[in-house]
Amino acid sequence: MEFEIPRSHPRYWSLVARERLVEAFEKGLVVPQGLIAHGRGECFDYILGEETRDFALEAERVSAAYLLLSSRPVISVNGNYAALAAEEIAELSEALGGRAIVEVNIFYRTEERVRRIYEFLRGFRVRGLLDPGCQKTRVPGLESPRGIVCRDGIASADFVLVAIEDGDRTEALVAWGKKVSAIDLNPFSRTAQKASVSIIDEAVRATRSITRFLDSMSSMSREELRSVVEAYDNSRILARAFKAILERLSEAALAGRL
Ligand code: ATP
Repeated sequence: MEFEIPRSHPRYWSLVARERLVEAFEKGLVVPQGLIAHGRGECFDYILGEETRDFALEAERVSAAYLLLSSRPVISVNGNYAALAAEEIAELSEALGGRAIVEVNIFYRTEERVRRIYEFLRGFRVRGLLDPGCQKTRVPGLESPRGIVCRDGIASADFVLVAIEDGDRTEALVAWGKKVSAIDLNPFSRTAQKASVSIIDEAVRATRSITRFLDSMSSMSREELRSVVEAYDNSRILARAFKAILERLSEAALAGRL
């Protein structure tokens, strides 16, 4: 890291995240568009109070249940997600005992960048990491390299966890019959709108939270896990996220300050 961020800085974590992304950009893991996408996320995190809200916790709990129930769970990792949360992705893969496949899958695809992200994740000892030399196929309806996926990974998954993802790709995965949990701070995004489970939370916090739920739910029976999944209503979660934004803005508008 080029410059030392003082721990006492009120926006310490936000500055660390930016440094991580800039570093990852310089190493060729993150594209410039990824830096812009991060800014959009930060804006929503600011409004949401930079903490995991109750509606996010509920979506994270259901995502943990899906990870435990699915026969072929896949964690899809792009440049931003790897740069910010490699350690947390490693912990999540460990909590799943390597049962989930971790596939590097990126929107602006070059095989070189896929390889770099893969090597980066390997450095964190992520378990279940799929070799980028895997047999490839395409997500139906997605032309261009953004539709390329691994046959033994996303293509054969019944559940996919994505983060900081593009709306079109999320929609195409759902249309392909996958259950998709999407970590995305913006409830207005097409990703959040189209996902089966919308986790309106920051990627690092959300990943840690899913891992915590996995630990606490590991003793639940399949029947109990199924009832968690069946009781879930994503439109209610989105409605609560919009309401939280509305309330925060209303309070600020009335008081003239936060
Ligand atoms: P969509 O295509 O889904 O309508 P978009 O065009 O904003 O949305 P991208 O540019 O790919 O899609 O942005 C990815 C999304 O990730 C954005 O909605 C942004 O709010 C969100 N995001 C960015 N950084 C984070 C983060 N650290 N944690 C969670 N979400 C994030």
